[in-house]
Amino acid sequence: MNTSTSTSTARTHQWNLVASIPFLGWHLLLPLAFLFPFKWEYVAVVFVTYYLRMFGITAGYHRYFSHRAFKTGRVFQFLLAFLAQMGVQKGVLWWAANHRHHHRYSDTEEDIHSPARKGFWWSHMNWILVKEYEPTNFSAIKDFAKYPELVWLNKYFLVPPLVGLAIVYAIGGLPWAFYAGVVSTVLVWHGTFTINSLSHVFGKRRYLTTDTSRNNFLLALLTCGEGWHNNHHFHQNTANQGWFWWEVDFTFYALKVLSWLGVVSDLRLVSEQTKNCYLKYSDAQRAQLEAEVGFNAWRSPPQRQPSLTPEERPAMGLTPAMVKR
Ligand SMILES: [Zn+2]
Ligand SMILES: [Zn+2]
Repeated sequence: MNTSTSTSTARTHQWNLVASIPFLGWHLLLPLAFLFPFKWEYVAVVFVTYYLRMFGITAGYHRYFSHRAFKTGRVFQFLLAFLAQMGVQKGVLWWAANHRHHHRYSDTEEDIHSPARKGFWWSHMNWILVKEYEPTNFSAIKDFAKYPELVWLNKYFLVPPLVGLAIVYAIGGLPWAFYAGVVSTVLVWHGTFTINSLSHVFGKRRYLTTDTSRNNFLLALLTCGEGWHNNHHFHQNTANQGWFWWEVDFTFYALKVLSWLGVVSDLRLVSEQTKNCYLKYSDAQRAQLEAEVGFNAWRSPPQRQPSLTPEERPAMGLTPAMVKR
């Protein structure tokens, strides 16, 4: 089945039925919740398995494997990849390679999941369901593809979620397996996907970036801090994405505790100079920011040329000296 999904290009995509049927089928299982009479215990199961896996996704898939925002040893690196993959978003190398591509080409025609270029639902989840983006682009993730255990995990990406399902089934039987494996998993999917879709559409822009990224408090609560997406696009490689005290960032708080315990180290932090640079914007720059926050403004992203790699592209004129480690 072919479908044309792009509004701005003639590119045709072919659905990946092997990925699409279980993904959509999982949503159809949700009404089976009525088979299990309500218990607060089930709410707790969903809450714990949601936020535990969201931490794995944000600290693992995103801040560590995509952006190298902190350091850790090989064992915890593997555990982080394992926890991230419990969120059932394919292999860690696949995820991080695609994410690096997103930063490299944000909101240009090349961006895999730009709502501005290809529509909301495409950016939210349809891009995952086509054959074109199924293979892992190893050339974009060479730094982690040198670890055989990660390559193995990337290939057998369903091992972590199956292990997780077995654990919750062993503890709480079928109801726990349903609430963790189906309800929580669907919420984890859409919670994560909001960062590709909603956080390029709704929210405030503090920093001028060449994309449509926004800061959104509600999305930050749902995604353990990922909702500060305008901060993140402005300067990608920091372990903290909430840069001010009110910008809640549970992933960073947990990473901070792990650094005190010696499990992770070298958390990259945003410098005062970088985070406060918006105060020095000219009137013209402020006017540009305001023009970019209006409803529907996300549909006309700022024009930019894609750069070479995330490492080669200093975030919007920032020099490495402006970032402290
Ligand atoms: Zn983005
Ligand atoms: Zn990122």
